[in-house]
Amino acid sequence: MSSLLGQSFIGFTRSQSQAKPYRAVNPATATALAPDFFAATAGEVDRACELAAQATPQLAATSGHKKAVLLRDIATRIESATPALVARATQETGLPEARCQGEIGRTMGQLRLFADLVEKGDWVDARIETANPDRKPLPKPDHRSMLRPIGPVAVFCASNFPFAYSVAGGDTASALAAGCPVIVMAHHAHVGTAEIMASLIVEAVKANGLPEGTFSLIMGEGRVVGQQVAKHPALRAIGFTGSRTGGRALMDSAAARPTPIPVYAEMSSVNPIVLLEGALAARGDAIATGLLGSCTLGVGQFCTQPGLIVLVRSAASEAFVAKLSSLFTEAADGVMLTAGIHQAYQKGVTTRSAQAGVKLLAQGKSSGQPNRGVAALFATEAKTFVAEASLQDEIFGPSSLIIWCHHAQEVDATIGALHGNLTATLHGTDVELIANAPLLTKLEAIAGRVVINGFPTGVEVSHAIVHGGPYPSLSDGRTTSVGSNAIYRFTRLTCYQTFPDAALPAELQNANPLNLSRLLNGTRSSAAL
Ligand code: NAP
Repeated sequence: MSSLLGQSFIGFTRSQSQAKPYRAVNPATATALAPDFFAATAGEVDRACELAAQATPQLAATSGHKKAVLLRDIATRIESATPALVARATQETGLPEARCQGEIGRTMGQLRLFADLVEKGDWVDARIETANPDRKPLPKPDHRSMLRPIGPVAVFCASNFPFAYSVAGGDTASALAAGCPVIVMAHHAHVGTAEIMASLIVEAVKANGLPEGTFSLIMGEGRVVGQQVAKHPALRAIGFTGSRTGGRALMDSAAARPTPIPVYAEMSSVNPIVLLEGALAARGDAIATGLLGSCTLGVGQFCTQPGLIVLVRSAASEAFVAKLSSLFTEAADGVMLTAGIHQAYQKGVTTRSAQAGVKLLAQGKSSGQPNRGVAALFATEAKTFVAEASLQDEIFGPSSLIIWCHHAQEVDATIGALHGNLTATLHGTDVELIANAPLLTKLEAIAGRVVINGFPTGVEVSHAIVHGGPYPSLSDGRTTSVGSNAIYRFTRLTCYQTFPDAALPAELQNANPLNLSRLLNGTRSSAAL
């Protein structure tokens, strides 16, 4: 592995920019890390976007098999480079080695999941309506449809997932799988890790004979350089993970373009957990232990961190809250990803502590080291929560808010007041779950994934997972940013009417050369015509 140069990848060429040098910072020690990184120039951003536009037709015509080979090659190269990736990422993020190893495993798994999907090919949803010249009053034309790549996609890396939601993460894997060129905006929190990962992808693109514009990595401030990428006329879609402010800014920029484009932004989520009395009476201590683990996992820096705990006052719930408070008090602090995230967390905790009607129940231990997030447990009444919208704001870190309800109607009112979330969780006995079917329906209305008797952290990457939900958890609640369904974000439907067979994409040809399951005149079939 060559040493870091601190320069963007504009297709296969390294940036020559010396502009705005900056360094990654080790958050555990608050010290800057060599080398300097340089912001791409406006000319280089243009070049990366133009290369992506030039690569678009060739990538769109690339077979599922060839895309699968590319994705698997990237995964193999990541596997070989794991020691270098872990060494840099642990320094840049303060994340422990085991977490980085695990996340790299997930990243390779995602690439291979999409490789299998596109190699099989059925995902394109091929549909064929054969002609009927005798139909009255008008003849029916032959017309066939399938999903095609949308075109160049910009991916904004996530601070809290240096691998799985960054350079070779789920957005990049799903966009490449769809056949879209990708321009990645590196996150300053792990820019060296980004450079290593980008070099692996560029090597794989070259080795597989794919066009230069298939992949670029841009360094520099998102608010400046990232906005140039987002506004470039060649761009067709954006994938983003981060703050609501950042995601919203990109949504607004994309909507204001002469040609608006979709933004798939994963932003803020507070992941409510409703705890019913029977479950608390039967296993309150175990729920408290599990909940503490979920709240403080990764110093609370997960988008599925449970930030709201809803319960009805009873002897069992009072005992549960006492237990949870004592566990929070014992919790050790942990290094947060960046000084900015740590400051935002501290500000959030200070603001909430001073909020009328909110009580700070418990705080974890502080080591006094730099950038350490200290766990914080708050409580309020349902009436206060429903009346004060800011209590739904995400405090990104190991903090949760208990919402005390007097009765089930207040639980309903609390859930009814919630914005969109990635997840919602319900704990209850079997009898309670049956009796609370309407509550489950309410939870389903505000979240993309509903969890029963579990905890929301730990997102499975699969064909069935949904990591999305109504705004503001996602900009577009019809989609998911994790799992194989994420590919559909970077596609558009195209219909081919009265095409000669040889001019059709292989997926739609009469002989069904790819042996796909297709919708043939309304019936699913793998047959040739
Ligand atoms: P962020 O500030 O939203 O930044 C994410 C990326 O978007 C960075 O590359 C950033 O670039 C870029 N960006 C920000 N504002 C932009 C704008 N107006 N136009 C174009 N690009 C923009 O998120 P973060 O740095 O990861 O963390 C900050 C806060 O975000 C956290 O404290 C937390 O509240 C929230 N967050 C939430 C989640 C979640 O999963 N819910 C995950 C991560 C972060 P520059 O910073 O270089 O400008």
